[in-house]
Amino acid sequence: MPFLEFDRYLGTLALPQISLSGQKKISAGIVAIVGLGGTGGIAAELFARAGVASLVLIDDDTVSLTNIQRQIEYVEADIGKGKAETLKKRISAINHNVSVEAINERITEENASIMGKPSMIFDGTDNFSARSAINRYAVKKGIPWIMTAANETFGTIKAVVPHETSCTACLGYPDSGNEGMGCAQAGILPSAPAAIGTLAFSLGLKILMGEKVDGDIVYIDTWNYSIERIRTQINPKCRVCGTP
Ligand SMILES: [Zn+2]
Repeated sequence: MPFLEFDRYLGTLALPQISLSGQKKISAGIVAIVGLGGTGGIAAELFARAGVASLVLIDDDTVSLTNIQRQIEYVEADIGKGKAETLKKRISAINHNVSVEAINERITEENASIMGKPSMIFDGTDNFSARSAINRYAVKKGIPWIMTAANETFGTIKAVVPHETSCTACLGYPDSGNEGMGCAQAGILPSAPAAIGTLAFSLGLKILMGEKVDGDIVYIDTWNYSIERIRTQINPKCRVCGTP
């Protein structure tokens, strides 16, 4: 266990849900975040503030003016710069104890190993191909991961703990393709990805602390304030996590 700055984490140390034993586990955690847009960006920052050991930030995208409306990690001066490197600088300024690796690549089945062997993977992507690549890699390596998605005013969060909960393939998520029309066409409320990324971060802390989590899909509408929980089950014949 590395040196722990008690003053920095007084807020979390005082919580009975976390306390010193939980903070020690968080401080040993390695989180790979794939997709550094509205949900992945805010989650990366929260994991850094919470004091994880290291973050692996993966995105091949550059910051554009259309991102600024909702991707709160970026400012106008970042337009045209790579998201991974830009976020790495911001995070290093927030918590110098967190080691950050910035990888300027788009995740695919072929390069999935760039995620390394983290304690967990956070999916902040917006397409089925990337999610499928994350799912296959995570199931193969036994790494828990969290799927997030945000569109229009709503979003979804789901944890996948290989062989303990359903995976996305169990639920019939396709291996490729885009998810709907994309934010610019369909519209997106700035608070939707911020809320989804924040709530998924809480789930991530539970995973880092070794708490048992379920594989429910949580659907949240940030305009109507509605939350629904959809139960899911492992499909024993799943093409990814089922027994061959
Ligand atoms: Zn499955």
